[in-house]
Amino acid sequence: MGDQSSERPVLPDPTTPKPSLPPGMVLGPDGKPCKICTAFRNWRPTASGTASSSKKSTAAMMAAFASGTGFQPPNSKPENATLPPHCPPDVEALGRATWSFLHAAAAYYPARPTPHQRANMLNLIHAMPVLYPCTHCAADFGDKIKEHPPDVSNRERLSRWFCERHNEVNGKLGKEMFDCAKVDERWKDGPPDGSCD
Ligand SMILES: Cc1cc2nc3c(=O)[nH]c(=O)nc-3n(C[C@H](O)[C@H](O)[C@H](O)COP(=O)(O)OP(=O)(O)OC[C@H]3O[C@@H](n4cnc5c(N)ncnc54)[C@H](O)[C@@H]3O)c2cc1C
Repeated sequence: MGDQSSERPVLPDPTTPKPSLPPGMVLGPDGKPCKICTAFRNWRPTASGTASSSKKSTAAMMAAFASGTGFQPPNSKPENATLPPHCPPDVEALGRATWSFLHAAAAYYPARPTPHQRANMLNLIHAMPVLYPCTHCAADFGDKIKEHPPDVSNRERLSRWFCERHNEVNGKLGKEMFDCAKVDERWKDGPPDGSCD
């Protein structure tokens, strides 16, 4: 795989506060608020709105009046708002789904992978910084891959490698570290109490 650094978009630093940006909202490589990079609870449609968003808010207002639930303008959302199941993924839903896939793919990776399987796993991992839709997540993951080249030599090592990368993201987001001794329990075997059987 060649060096793709020259193809990488110049990203705004998501940690730098932007005066006009509501807290938690993240800019994309185009300098506009990035919906897939932002948690649903933090997403605030622009006050001015586009033609389509203004149509949508009128429809939402009519629906709220009709159902008697009261109307909240689209840019006011409770802090604990959760993503409705019919909505496109936010940064968290996308992350959960992606980690589920990656950890499960590692859990079922062979103990003695063929060269073909190794090459494809490497391709999958190296595709992430290029294709993962949350651009700042993708860029950080790309940096981590360079610091810690993937170990695709067997199932156990690959599972640990993903666990460690996931823990780096957990640390960045201020979440608890996961005990990597428990990856098989979490992603393959289920707990000893049989509650997942
Ligand atoms: C490559 C990648 C990069 C990301 N970068 C960012 C980012 O920069 N900013 C951002 O806001 N979000 C990022 N995310 C999303 C973020 O990691 C979470 O998925 C999201 O915040 C939802 O978190 P969660 O607490 O629901 O559980 P998740 O972190 O999604 O975890 C899902 C489940 O995996 C298990 N688990 C947790 N840690 C581990 C581990 N180390 N090993 C094995 N299993 C584990 C737990 O059982 C947990 O419930 C990224 C996701 C991916 C896939």
